[in-house]
Amino acid sequence: MVKKREAFEFGDSSVKAGTQESVKLPAAKLYNDTPMELHVEVFHGSKPGPVLLVCAAIHGDELNGIEICRRLLSRINAKTLTGTLLVVPIVNVFGFIQQSRYLPDRRDLNRCFPGSPKGALASRLANLFSSQLVKRATHIVDLHTGAIHRENL
Ligand SMILES: [Zn+2]
Repeated sequence: MVKKREAFEFGDSSVKAGTQESVKLPAAKLYNDTPMELHVEVFHGSKPGPVLLVCAAIHGDELNGIEICRRLLSRINAKTLTGTLLVVPIVNVFGFIQQSRYLPDRRDLNRCFPGSPKGALASRLANLFSSQLVKRATHIVDLHTGAIHRENL
């Protein structure tokens, strides 16, 4: 008898093998008490394998990776997937809303890892991302783009 693959426990969700689920991790609150969440698409493949994390917009003004994530999401089928795929199209949700590379306090999220649960906003977001996503992944693709007035070759 073939043993069924265990579910992928993530956030408040239990993603069964061969299925996909959108999971929201509470990140912080805006100044007006509006909750902000980290949106994670979890594809838990039918067959065991590596855990790949693909993320974009750690810098909130680097938009190309968001579209790459969107296209990736449209092509993945958890039923035929080997391993687990975690996709976070927008890591710096605060910077993205403000069309800014940085967080509202001008901190660069990319310089705040692994972060701290009691630090500033950037440090807390980095801590959430590190503890919930980076530690779960065996491989990571972190998408960046040349920011405004900057060329990355
Ligand atoms: Zn970047």
